[in-house]
Amino acid sequence: MIKVKQLCKAFDGLQVLKNISMEINKSEVVVLIGASGSGKSTLLRCLNFLEIKDSGEIEISGQVIDTKKTNLNKVREDMGMVFQHFNLFPHMTVLANVIEAPIHIKKKSKQTAIDQAMDILQKVGLADKAHHYPEQLSGGQKQRVAIARALAMEPAVMLFDEPTSALDPELVGEVLETMKNLAREGMTMVIVTHEMGFAREVADRVIMLADGNIIEDGHPSVFFTDPKEERTRRFLQQVL
Ligand code: ADP
Ligand code: MG
Repeated sequence: MIKVKQLCKAFDGLQVLKNISMEINKSEVVVLIGASGSGKSTLLRCLNFLEIKDSGEIEISGQVIDTKKTNLNKVREDMGMVFQHFNLFPHMTVLANVIEAPIHIKKKSKQTAIDQAMDILQKVGLADKAHHYPEQLSGGQKQRVAIARALAMEPAVMLFDEPTSALDPELVGEVLETMKNLAREGMTMVIVTHEMGFAREVADRVIMLADGNIIEDGHPSVFFTDPKEERTRRFLQQVL
């Protein structure tokens, strides 16, 4: 689904991603971990072209993306992104938030968009909040609306950048549960998170970033119990 070859990205002389190569298969759930500042967000943002790589190659669904020739908005439509902060439109109801892009970008009819949005809201457990405004929701509910909004674009891949980091602890579970359900349905997902329990349970692979490189990449059963790299061990000791 995603193939990255020798991806490099620097900001003002700071080499954040040095030589990243990785593959993400269809229906795979990959959790990306690493110290703060190790480039996790930058890598995710390169994957959906919110950041443009300096060099290297990104292939999505068999197509190498030439950032100068490809319509990047079209590519981005296929990659749902959920951030730490939900960025919902505050003046719009939950339903209006979810149907906005399908209508304006995918040119769906309002009724089709509403029907699909209600199905998705059902799935994330918020059908009864369709006509509420974001400020009437808890942080966990807002984040689930953000997930619903991304799903409404029918993306091939979902990217999550610390989706539970801004939530009160008691609200983390419901968001992780929603993500778990998505994984169960076969959604391809790349997730930056510090929720190691979730990674252990849901990830097919865990990837550790350090110093701009992937230093470890493995199945959680091995990754968490017998990491190869000393740096991974030390990191896990801090977060577990
Ligand atoms: P992480 O998500 O792992 O915490 P980031 O990808 O956000 O790491 O950042 C990696 C490094 O790149 C940090 O040193 C950060 O300050 C820097 N960085 C990220 N985005 C930008 C930007 N737009 N401009 C300049 N520096 C940036
Ligand atoms: Mg980050």
